[in-house]
Amino acid sequence: MRSPVWHPFHQHGLGEEIPLVTHADGAVLFTADGRRVVDAISSWWVTTHGHCHPRIMAAIRQQSEQLDQLIFAGWTHQPAEDLARALVAMMPRPLDYVFFSDSGSTSVEVALKMALGFHTHRGDPRHRIVVMEHSYHGDTIGGMSVGARGVFNRAYASLLFDVATVPFPSAGKEQACLDALERICAQGDTAAFIVEPLLLGAGGMLIYPAHILAEMRKICGVHGVLFIADEVMTAWGRTGTLLACEQAGIVPDILCLSKGLTGGSLPLAVTMATPPIYESHYSPDRSRQFFHSSSYTANPIACAAANANLAIWREEPVLDRIRLLQQRQADALGGLEGNGKIANVRQLGTVTAMDAVSPSEGYLSDLAPALKAAFSARSILLRPLGNTIYVMPPFCIEAEDLAATYQAIGEVIALLA
Ligand SMILES: *Cc1c(COP(=O)(O)O)cnc(C)c1O
Repeated sequence: MRSPVWHPFHQHGLGEEIPLVTHADGAVLFTADGRRVVDAISSWWVTTHGHCHPRIMAAIRQQSEQLDQLIFAGWTHQPAEDLARALVAMMPRPLDYVFFSDSGSTSVEVALKMALGFHTHRGDPRHRIVVMEHSYHGDTIGGMSVGARGVFNRAYASLLFDVATVPFPSAGKEQACLDALERICAQGDTAAFIVEPLLLGAGGMLIYPAHILAEMRKICGVHGVLFIADEVMTAWGRTGTLLACEQAGIVPDILCLSKGLTGGSLPLAVTMATPPIYESHYSPDRSRQFFHSSSYTANPIACAAANANLAIWREEPVLDRIRLLQQRQADALGGLEGNGKIANVRQLGTVTAMDAVSPSEGYLSDLAPALKAAFSARSILLRPLGNTIYVMPPFCIEAEDLAATYQAIGEVIALLA
């Protein structure tokens, strides 16, 4: 019988085979048909220290025997209290307040609502949101509204709200981006600028320099525009530092974290905010409280998993592992140098990307599924974005498995017309 499961970002009409995974360890997945597959994209950018990390699994087991779930409106539990304090200690000041939710998309929705609430409660209502070209911030209506428009959301365009867009600061065009941001912010009605720091993920692994990020932050500050850093993908070491913002020496007004927050084990997100944003909602007036929740907000088991992740960051040489992976990635990329079938070879921290040179481009080109299938046939999980092939492994990936990943990339691009 055909499976009743309706998969995300998957065209069932193409009849592609869907592998069944039974277990996982480190950077490796094991399938029901006996294959050992290298998870070279960290199960869609979430797994940081590896699948089934013993410390995280132990924390989940332990918490599941004490408290599974709790209403979080007006009630609290120790895993959430511990996590909030640990996050405040680990993230840059003054991101002193932690609001919980359960996915990257909802952390973005929360950030946007906080920003509008902030301006409204201060008696200076502003509604305009500024975004960067090619951005991705999630698949909810708000997340899509602040993300790039295209085939992903064409059918829902009538529901999306208007935003102002600044051009992506590609090499040589940085000033145009800054000028546009300055022009929009100077109009006075802009509530917030939301951006993926240094690396635009779903938009095609596009990298821009740290000094541009710093300039953008400065422009927002001058005009009282809240700066929202969507670090859902870039945080937790992906770009070589705990946060990408660190490399620009900046602190956002609002910070969105999710994917690697639990080490990639359970769904959880936080939106961190500075005191002025919290205080704008703080009042004896109940109509000014922050009106947002979801049923599983701050789930205790997910919080326990996140606490274990933070303990790993505090107590283990995570940045050394990241530096080692960064170097191995650079070496592997060097091996592809001069290959005429790829262009724009790039790296930021533990992430590498390259564009396959092909007459067919764009997300719906036939290239992406063909590449994906060719990698799968070689037992490598890679999922190109259009013609962009990228590698974003868990930090614990074995040298041989990374080598096998690049071996497969070499073989597959050699097959390109
Ligand atoms: C993945 C992602 C999101 C959405 O996160 P979900 O957990 O999939 O809802 C938002 N922003 C960025 C930058 C992302 O990479």
